[in-house]
Amino acid sequence: MKREFAVIGLGRFGGSICRELSKEGMEVLAIDSDEDKINEFKNIASHAVIADSTDEASLKELGIKNIDHVIVAIGDNIQASILTTVILHDLGIKRITVKAQNDYHEKILNKIGANHVVHPERDMGKRIAHSIISNNILDYLELSDDHSIVEVKAGKKLIGKTLVELDIRARYGCNVVAIKQGKNINVSPAADETLKEDDILIVIGADKDISRFEKQLVIDDD
Ligand code: ATP
Repeated sequence: MKREFAVIGLGRFGGSICRELSKEGMEVLAIDSDEDKINEFKNIASHAVIADSTDEASLKELGIKNIDHVIVAIGDNIQASILTTVILHDLGIKRITVKAQNDYHEKILNKIGANHVVHPERDMGKRIAHSIISNNILDYLELSDDHSIVEVKAGKKLIGKTLVELDIRARYGCNVVAIKQGKNINVSPAADETLKEDDILIVIGADKDISRFEKQLVIDDD
């Protein structure tokens, strides 16, 4: 059975989620209080309806209770975002993902029943900051408040060395979980694996350990 999603708020973020889910063939109910937005999405989403999500009766009428996963992407109006989340939680929606505007908003959303709070501007800011520290840092993904995954290109300090020589786990406390080599991905690489130019390492660990690893082994000196 197809999974059903609802996206509330069709700004840049919600709009992009709605487009992508629809492109992937998912059933998407798009909701916005702005008629222009609904007109824009009526040929993209499975259903697009004008509604104010802070009105519980309207949400009930739309059959929101039958939706598997609701994404609340109301931007600037924090009050409307909070109220919508409370209503969805009270209606028993199992999976609620909400976009937070700031840390304070995020804290409240976590307390009132959001299962997953996203902070796209902050997260993207962090990823970009890491990627501009060094051309060798390709991506950075936060796993929790203090653990992350980084994708790094083997630079001068890594090429030609084996994992056992580098001893990343003992020296930096992080783990190389996979090495991407062109189209192949070598999961749990062997200790005697020699790193080659263009190899991409996927490293998991505590932020403080990843930071040391980046500074000492990833950032080339020149
Ligand atoms: P983004 O950064 O994603 O572009 P944005 O700045 O466009 O966000 P807003 O314009 O604040 O975000 O809100 C996103 C959408 O949410 C808008 O299209 C707005 O009409 C819609 N919206 C705001 N409040 C409600 C509400 N109570 N019910 C339904 N839709 C709402």
